[in-house]
Amino acid sequence: MSKYIMALDQGTTSSRCILFDKKGNSISSAQKEYTQIFPKPGWVEHDPMEIWSSQLSVAVEAMGKVRAHYTDIAAIGITNQRETTILWDRKTGEPVYNAIVWQCRRTADRIEKVKADGMDSVIKQRTGLVADAYFSASKIAWILENVEGAKERAKKGELAFGTVDTWLIWNLTKGAVHVTDYSNASRTMLFDIHKKCWDQELLDYFDIPALILPEVKPSSFLYGKTSVDVFGGEIPISGAAGDQQAALFGQCCFQQGEMKNTYGTGCFLLMNTGNVPVESNCGLVTTIAASISDDVDYALEGSVFVAGAAVQWLRDEMRMVRSAPQTAEYCEQVEDTGGVYLVPAFSGLGTPYWNPYARGITVGITRGTSKEHFIRATVESIAYQVYDLIEAMGKDFQIHVKELRVDGGASINDFLMQFQSDITGAHIIRPACIETTALGAAYLAGLAVGYWADLEEIKQNWQISREFQPEMEEEKKHKLIKGWKRAVKAAIVWADEEE
Ligand code: ADP
Repeated sequence: MSKYIMALDQGTTSSRCILFDKKGNSISSAQKEYTQIFPKPGWVEHDPMEIWSSQLSVAVEAMGKVRAHYTDIAAIGITNQRETTILWDRKTGEPVYNAIVWQCRRTADRIEKVKADGMDSVIKQRTGLVADAYFSASKIAWILENVEGAKERAKKGELAFGTVDTWLIWNLTKGAVHVTDYSNASRTMLFDIHKKCWDQELLDYFDIPALILPEVKPSSFLYGKTSVDVFGGEIPISGAAGDQQAALFGQCCFQQGEMKNTYGTGCFLLMNTGNVPVESNCGLVTTIAASISDDVDYALEGSVFVAGAAVQWLRDEMRMVRSAPQTAEYCEQVEDTGGVYLVPAFSGLGTPYWNPYARGITVGITRGTSKEHFIRATVESIAYQVYDLIEAMGKDFQIHVKELRVDGGASINDFLMQFQSDITGAHIIRPACIETTALGAAYLAGLAVGYWADLEEIKQNWQISREFQPEMEEEKKHKLIKGWKRAVKAAIVWADEEE
């Protein structure tokens, strides 16, 4: 039996590789940042060749650190930035344009037209998504319309489309395999999540030829093997899932009602809703969870755009702290924020408000407001935004959220986690491994090749590092939440009244 499972974690700002052992321990890892390309305000691109070369180099580095041979790797699992769109030539493997990154707003006008055409309700019903420029559909259409000759070549079957998982698998197999998994397909805004197939009406609407699309398989599936010249021998590629779905799997949220929140740059709350796709009335999106068979589970997802990024802002722009962990010390030095609220709507508000025009605001400042209050208000804003997601989840699924599993860089902040527990009344559980995105991809790959026998065996690996229980009195909690809602309202009014 080979020793490790390799997880390739292709994120928005860096490519990472982690080798995991059977207990789910990280044995070796390597990470490399790569170039962000901003051709115009609001436009974001990556060079697909750099995505591939950085990912390959960290894989080789992680293997080199523990002198792993290709025979030591039982399988490869991939997790990736979602929605990012790449089109390339099937013969040469050459991209026809840079990758258009999920954050890129260049197709916002196209989406206004989608809404004017009344297609947003079709999109919601078939794909579970809110019509938005984040998702792949309008990005593919943009490339086909704006790159000379692309539309004709696509119609002749000369081009291939892929999200980043598909692009990596194509390159790892030297063009032998053109595939994606259900979780990534569900973020393209072209995939019928109920019938589990590409939706012809949406393809026609965006004028995208079906010939360019990859096959769609379960997230845990033997897609193919690496070409011999990549790692010196064949390694099975047998796991793929979008980053947030991979994290849900890595947190072992296999049962209906189990949920996790990832505290990174932004926050993503996902709840497994079992084999029913639940349609949201509260601004959540419905998505396919990473599943081990064609019989997929679904998830409800809520997103906060600015979470850990607000802490980076305190450090880099406000220069109030030297490091992110220092925020916890400042927060502990005051009893509360002294009535101050900060809404970090730096790039609009996500779930449940979906207001792209809202901007950041600080309210409740008095002569006694100190730097400590300001820092605490910023950190608390992360917890309030997650409270809003949990509240939306509770309404849509008619549940009272009792337990939340957490991960991501900012989940290490004990003050934040305690406040999160206080404000939501939920029991917060932080596992020993907070690299759950990569771990989820590894589990999916390992399950497909028998490295792990079943979900039960994987659950044994999940270890709690620390738990947080709510301690705040109800009355105080309600008062604080009420203040937060007023502050959000102020941020929205401020944007609404812009001339
Ligand atoms: P991503 O994957 O989105 O890059 P990570 O999961 O690596 O994010 O988490 C990094 C984010 O977490 C940064 O925005 C950083 O400001 C924040 N962060 C890291 N440590 C702390 C901390 N101790 N307290 C608060 N925020 C933190």
